[in-house]
Amino acid sequence: MPQLTVIVPAYNEAAVLDTFHQRLAGVLDQLPLDCNVLYVDDGSADRTWDIIEALTRRDPRAAGLKLSRNFGKEAAMTAGLDEADADAVVVIDADLQDPPELIPALVEQWRAGYDVVYATRSARAGETGLKRFTSAAFYRTMEKLSDTAVPRDTGDFRLLSRRALDALRQLRERQRFMKGLFAWIGYRQTSVRYERDPRHAGQTKWNYWRLTQLAVEGITSFSTAPLRLATWIGISASLLAFAYGVWVLAKALIWGDAVRGYPTLMLVILFLGGIQLLALGVIGEYLGRSYAESKQRPLYFIEERRRGGRG
Ligand code: UDP
Ligand code: MG
Repeated sequence: MPQLTVIVPAYNEAAVLDTFHQRLAGVLDQLPLDCNVLYVDDGSADRTWDIIEALTRRDPRAAGLKLSRNFGKEAAMTAGLDEADADAVVVIDADLQDPPELIPALVEQWRAGYDVVYATRSARAGETGLKRFTSAAFYRTMEKLSDTAVPRDTGDFRLLSRRALDALRQLRERQRFMKGLFAWIGYRQTSVRYERDPRHAGQTKWNYWRLTQLAVEGITSFSTAPLRLATWIGISASLLAFAYGVWVLAKALIWGDAVRGYPTLMLVILFLGGIQLLALGVIGEYLGRSYAESKQRPLYFIEERRRGGRG
């Protein structure tokens, strides 16, 4: 029977874990798969780990992984994905905002041949208008700036096939923007729509500061557009300076040097300013390249290989 591992990052989720596991177990019972659950305790300060331990004693399908401190959800997910050894994995939040009941729909798409099946929310119950607006703005900026299209309104709730999991494991960059990485690996991707429920219990760990950090991380790890900005400002400033310089010089030649020293001074300032911005742009370009190199991403993944008929 194919194996499925459900990875659940949990940070201070003591209030919901029992309910979560009950609902999840109910769903897994129905699946014709060899299922297990891997809880990753991301350095919780409450009783989360005790509850995970109790769950592993009660349910042989449950396993736990405790990180040494709070490393953040992206790292917790990575730890779970590294640990998992199954034909498919599902990543799901512990707070019941991602309904476990959707897992069979994800599995169905996987059985139909998809490698990455992400759950796209069609409603964001319990979220403020501001959060909705900022998240829409973020996805729009990402789409404009980066080559990797991060699917909109998609959390980390998704299913990965074995080969997608193996591909993802090869991305070892330190700044991990998982939503982008999931999209970057390619393969056959599809989505399943669902209504996102409000948090079942406990508090959200995100605040605007953390979300801003995540957004900056997403943009900087999937685009060097901000670095390129210096080049364009440099080029336009140099052109403007050059045009203005020509005018100052022409004026001095035709009407004379009324304020003594002004034309030369102006020309030197404009010239040097333009050169400096251009040089910054050049540095930015090289920095962008060495940044791309330092991520050490694989160059490609092969999806299929076909040999000639006689081979
Ligand atoms: N989480 C985590 N480490 C963190 C923050 C969050 O493992 O540092 C987990 C958390 O326990 C939950 C999931 O990530 O299972 C989503 O967190 P949360 O519900 O706070 O985020 P939101 O749904 O508000 O985006
Ligand atoms: Mg949540």
